[in-house]
Amino acid sequence: MKKLEKPQFDMETIIDNCLVHMQNPRKKRITLVKEKIKKKTEEYDELAQHGQLHIIPEHDTIDNIATKEDMEALYTQRFVPKNQPNRAFYDKILALAPYGKCPYCQQNLVKTVDHFLPKSKYVAYTVTPYNLIPACSDCNTGKLDSTFHNRVEEPFHPYYDNFDDCVWLKAKLIEMEPVSFQFYADPPIDISEEKRQRISHSFSEQGFCLNNIYKLHAAEEYCSRETRLKECFQKGKKELAVEVLQDLIKDEKSISLNSWKTALYQSIIDSEWYWNEYLPEICKGKD
Ligand SMILES: [Zn+2]
Repeated sequence: MKKLEKPQFDMETIIDNCLVHMQNPRKKRITLVKEKIKKKTEEYDELAQHGQLHIIPEHDTIDNIATKEDMEALYTQRFVPKNQPNRAFYDKILALAPYGKCPYCQQNLVKTVDHFLPKSKYVAYTVTPYNLIPACSDCNTGKLDSTFHNRVEEPFHPYYDNFDDCVWLKAKLIEMEPVSFQFYADPPIDISEEKRQRISHSFSEQGFCLNNIYKLHAAEEYCSRETRLKECFQKGKKELAVEVLQDLIKDEKSISLNSWKTALYQSIIDSEWYWNEYLPEICKGKD
């Protein structure tokens, strides 16, 4: 889970762009709530900074004037289509993710924009830039319209949270053939209990189901490394092969403390079964 720069867009411009060529009575309704949308955007930023997005009640109109359909139309007709003026903002949101990688899983490529507070239940934030997150299809679909009503259930928010200031992502090598891996969150005890619970919750199936994404890629990554590990093991036993894994860990850690690859390599180093039974056996098979 990777922190991103918060988008700094002018809400006035975004709403005015939305209103161009819009027909009445929708135009009239949106114009009536324009100031309210701007105020709600500022409130969102303030609440998010204090970890209080969960106190915002679900709602399906803005002041009983603009409807959910009105706001949906702003987004789907004025924000997303390529020929609309607000598309530049949409593209800028996609571009906030370094190397195009999804900030939730840090693995898949960004393909969509996720509404952190779902637009179906939090109508006022349908075009609020702070609520629009670049995401991969898996993370966006997994999140769907799920909501949260306390701080612990509040998923990782890339514009306001930093979960990469301590190591919490771990993996376990499953000791049977073919070698596979399971990932889990194990936050350190010297951070706040609230943050520990939020990291675990965001990682879990109620959050972004990250184990499901990582274990698939891990199997492939391991296969691509096995030949080299075998060769090193035959040449210099465990010590030489561990050196290779430690070099890989060093490279990964320079990018992120919680890379699934780091967790994967470390789990290989830590498995007695791998070094004492599995690797000697497959090396023998090769001879
Ligand atoms: Zn993702």
